[in-house]
Amino acid sequence: MDDLQYGTRNKRGDWAPNAHLELPPFWRRPFSLPKVLAWIPEYLWPWNAFHMATALIWWFFVVPDVEVMKTLSWTWALWLYAVNAAAIFVFYGSVELFWYVKKKQGTRFKYNGKFPADQPSDVFWFKSQNLDNFLRSFFISIPLWTLIEVLFLWAFANSWATWLPWETHWPWLVALALISPAIHEVHFFAIHRLIHTPFLYRWVHSVHHNSVNPSPWSSLSMHPVEGFLYHAVAFWHLIIPSNPLLALYQLHLAGFGAVNGHIGFDKLELTENTPLNSHAYAHYLHHKYFEVNYGGDGLIPLDKWFGYWHDGSKEGEARMNARFEKKKARMNAKAART
Ligand SMILES: [Zn+2]
Ligand SMILES: [Zn+2]
Repeated sequence: MDDLQYGTRNKRGDWAPNAHLELPPFWRRPFSLPKVLAWIPEYLWPWNAFHMATALIWWFFVVPDVEVMKTLSWTWALWLYAVNAAAIFVFYGSVELFWYVKKKQGTRFKYNGKFPADQPSDVFWFKSQNLDNFLRSFFISIPLWTLIEVLFLWAFANSWATWLPWETHWPWLVALALISPAIHEVHFFAIHRLIHTPFLYRWVHSVHHNSVNPSPWSSLSMHPVEGFLYHAVAFWHLIIPSNPLLALYQLHLAGFGAVNGHIGFDKLELTENTPLNSHAYAHYLHHKYFEVNYGGDGLIPLDKWFGYWHDGSKEGEARMNARFEKKKARMNAKAART
């Protein structure tokens, strides 16, 4: 595919899409029902359907019997960790292998013209972004993901949370499944904005931001505090009357879904004429500019409401710069007072 039909490449080799990020059509004015209807398949397919499919597979084939889960034990906890880690190894690893090692697409549709492996840096363990990100994912974040999973399954198994059966409560549960990506966005925005406060940024979130040019392994490269808070989104299903399958879905939206922001390519060319939209641009801009786009694609447009939204346009850039100038002036005034 010719990526220059869809965007432009600058002197450094960085590619940017021509189309600016747009909020889902139900937030746009004037309201257009055909646009909303056209958006629904894209909302469900393929990413959210994929996360639901993995949740179903886990529920039916991976998660132990309820009787077993009534008691905490290393046996089933380690089993869940092994499956989660293997799944991430295959899922993230295949994107790494084909797009970052074999470079099957070169830099077509790649936001940053360089590959992380070409840029050794002291901020990373062993000076390697790949190794650093990989080790942090498998030895920090995926264990914490599994811890959250064990805790909510244990809670459901012991009836400490409201477990609604599908047979009697399916309309509510279907509705809850449909809004789970919105729960993810609100939770992620809140914890993410929190760890961007100066103290927590330095102590916690800077680990994730070392990857200015993220690749799939960067997705779960987190400080333990962030790794826990991020996956804890599944605990909402212990408070809201729900079902363990939906808690798993919520967890997979976070764990597997983290890759979306960090693919680094706007489109993955699955075959020559089958592009897969990565939905990575909003979060790529976050890694580039830090203080924009704390949420995701704007399903619940908190970034827009709080003034953090950068849609990739010149106006978005100008709005961001004006905000940074104002912040600088505020800090200078404060420094002058002390
Ligand atoms: Zn990120
Ligand atoms: Zn951040």
